[in-house]
Amino acid sequence: MMGLLARSGATITPNAEDADVLVVNTCSFIDKAKQESVDTILEMARLKNEGRATRLVVAGCMVERYREEIQKNLPEVDAVVGTGELENILAAAGISSPPRNSASNNSPFHILSGSEAAIAHRPEGTHRELQGRFSREGWDGAISSLPHYLYDEHTPRLRTTARASAYIKIAEGCDHPCGFCIIPQLRGKFRSRRFESVIAEAERLVDEGVQEITLIGQDTTCYGEDFGMKDGLAQLLDRLARIDGLRWIRFLYAYPNKVTQRLLDTMAAHDNICNYLDVPLQHASPNVLKRMKRGGGAEIFLKLIERARRTMPDIALRTSFITGFPGETDADFDLLQDFVRAARFDWLGVFEYSDEEGSAAYHLDAKVPKRSIAARQRRLMRTQLRISRAGRHAQIGKVFDVLVEGESEETPLLWQGRAAMHAPEIDGKVLINDFGPHESLRPGSFHRCQVTEAHDYDLVARVVA
Ligand code: SF4
Repeated sequence: MMGLLARSGATITPNAEDADVLVVNTCSFIDKAKQESVDTILEMARLKNEGRATRLVVAGCMVERYREEIQKNLPEVDAVVGTGELENILAAAGISSPPRNSASNNSPFHILSGSEAAIAHRPEGTHRELQGRFSREGWDGAISSLPHYLYDEHTPRLRTTARASAYIKIAEGCDHPCGFCIIPQLRGKFRSRRFESVIAEAERLVDEGVQEITLIGQDTTCYGEDFGMKDGLAQLLDRLARIDGLRWIRFLYAYPNKVTQRLLDTMAAHDNICNYLDVPLQHASPNVLKRMKRGGGAEIFLKLIERARRTMPDIALRTSFITGFPGETDADFDLLQDFVRAARFDWLGVFEYSDEEGSAAYHLDAKVPKRSIAARQRRLMRTQLRISRAGRHAQIGKVFDVLVEGESEETPLLWQGRAAMHAPEIDGKVLINDFGPHESLRPGSFHRCQVTEAHDYDLVARVVA
């Protein structure tokens, strides 16, 4: 959306106070995400009433889920843009494309007034491709959804990540039936981007100075299945790894039974594919996993972990679990705790079960009380804290390549970066307190660093080369 807006001549600002048009991009897959989205919309609505902004747009998953409610209950919201209709952001922001062949128009873009926008995008009007009504007076026409939307290498992008790092979405949607999840309803059926489109985008990003690419999708391990490819992700990684100048490649997220030996071997075969695997397991009790409609269990998962570590002894493993899924007993939870102690993950996230209307689990019986859900979440995180602390301490003295990100968020006296074991934004970090032969470091540069201290999740290191 930012790429489309910028190409139309709009200036993007991260400061809401400076903006004429406010865009809130929302998430709505669990309670906490919904709450954060609603709070942000209300905060921006207040800003619109009091400040300079004249237009408020709500985009993202919340629109797919609560389009009518937003339109009915939030009169400050001028337009909505669902996940399948990103091209509509221009009309929603009240911006028309620059008139072609118009020598007299010096403006790079044209802001429509409320009534113009309403007329221009009336469903029966001439701009049928941008169906919707954006007048501030009414909401009598919703934007039509394009459920198969998936960007390609020609879509303009404006990246907000550090210069050296970029995400590439390689697939959208999901065909798995996980009982707790409404993402397939919000994002549609699984579809992959074309192989050559991903490669072309990666090559362009590397030309622009990107050195680290993170492939994303609801399930990257299904990549290419809809084209009839076998081991599509392994093939894609193998091709990406041959791009000159690309230092780190990783992918998020893997579905457990889709992690093939060929995928692991491909990761091991290339120095620039990070030995890093994020495989959300959700639970370890076969009973709970069956009710979740996922399958598997502790025994199968331990074999997978053993296989991954045998192929790449230094692999960093991340997973996530849900506590309090309907029907989860004390025995199921104990089994999960035992599994976490046995698996010794490098990184682990624990979500409290969120009872989402529209999910299959919403209709299950034996709901777990909220207090127990939260208590189990805390207990599991405490178990992992001890594992993480021991794992970080075992790394003292080791030497890693570190991508320098910039000054530490906590103090300007330290710099911070990440090693291959740290995915952007989610895992721990490396704090650098000794620059070695360098007077200062440059964000986006790689250095060999030796770990000198360890915290619960973060490492402290000095530059050695
Ligand atoms: S694989 Fe992930 S996105 Fe797909 S249904 Fe399961 S939890 Fe949801």
